[in-house]
Amino acid sequence: MERVRFAPSPTGHLHIGGARTALFNFLYARHTGGKFILRIEDTDLNRSTLESEKVIIEGLRWLGINWDEGIEVGGEYGPYRSTERIDLYRPYVQKLLDEGKAYLCYCTEEELEREREEALKRGEMPRYSGKCRNLTLEERQRYEKEGRKPVVRFRVPDDEVIVVDDIVRGRVEFHSKDIGDFIIVKSDGIPVYNFAVTIDDHLMKITTVIRGEEHLSNTPRQILIYKALGFEIPKFAHVSLILGKDRTKMSKRHGSTWVEQYRDAGYLPEAIINYLALLGWSPEGEEEIFTLDELIQKFDLNRVVKNPAVFDLDKLNHINGIY
Ligand code: GLU
Repeated sequence: MERVRFAPSPTGHLHIGGARTALFNFLYARHTGGKFILRIEDTDLNRSTLESEKVIIEGLRWLGINWDEGIEVGGEYGPYRSTERIDLYRPYVQKLLDEGKAYLCYCTEEELEREREEALKRGEMPRYSGKCRNLTLEERQRYEKEGRKPVVRFRVPDDEVIVVDDIVRGRVEFHSKDIGDFIIVKSDGIPVYNFAVTIDDHLMKITTVIRGEEHLSNTPRQILIYKALGFEIPKFAHVSLILGKDRTKMSKRHGSTWVEQYRDAGYLPEAIINYLALLGWSPEGEEEIFTLDELIQKFDLNRVVKNPAVFDLDKLNHINGIY
């Protein structure tokens, strides 16, 4: 059975692009008779807010994008939250450390900054040098005595081609030497997105990860973690960005960017759903007005296009007018 998820970080409003990602996941789950999960990725404690979580959830509910699992509160499913799952991530961090697939890094911000500057001076892409890869016990103890708090870094293999076989983008190759050992747990003990998302997608048995193109460069890191832990790798579908008519990134110049703005302006959720479904996905035929049931019946990830979708307020207004 297919299992998909929408995993927003609660750091702002429910953006039109986020709503479309949620919708594609939802339509895919409904079309295949699978499950759709909502997971709030709130491990970035400085940027995540409950207010934002509330706005995102209200937006999804208003659109009728309902999820099938979660933490039960008062007879309803609340979302899963990464910060409530920290204890679940720990054993996997330990396993990687025990197997030498991750290590403690004591480098300070200043040291890292210096490394970055030097790499740029040499005309190279900055990436972590691997300085703490093979610290001796004495070196570690000295750093600890100095009061340095380590992060945990993933040991990226030196020479490996990582292939993302993407449903939308086709075969995309990355090389491990361009990645550099990346942080998986910060010095405060909180795992970063790339780690938490991998463990969660594994534990939640996600079969297909459908998300925005901006995450494509994170995918090789996640694949390395899947491999290091011996997890099965899900399928991936990275959906293109939404651009404004002038082909620049969608912003408020092109129309409202948040779902709540459309709700407050009196748009109908059915019209927004209908319009969002057609942003980057095209069913066969010329028709453009669909009920939710029709969208569910027709939705096909293989017909999601690779080119950026262009947001067209006139078209949205036209569809809204028909409803
Ligand atoms: N939390 C990420 C975001 O809001 C999404 C990550 C994902 O879908 O893997 O951009």
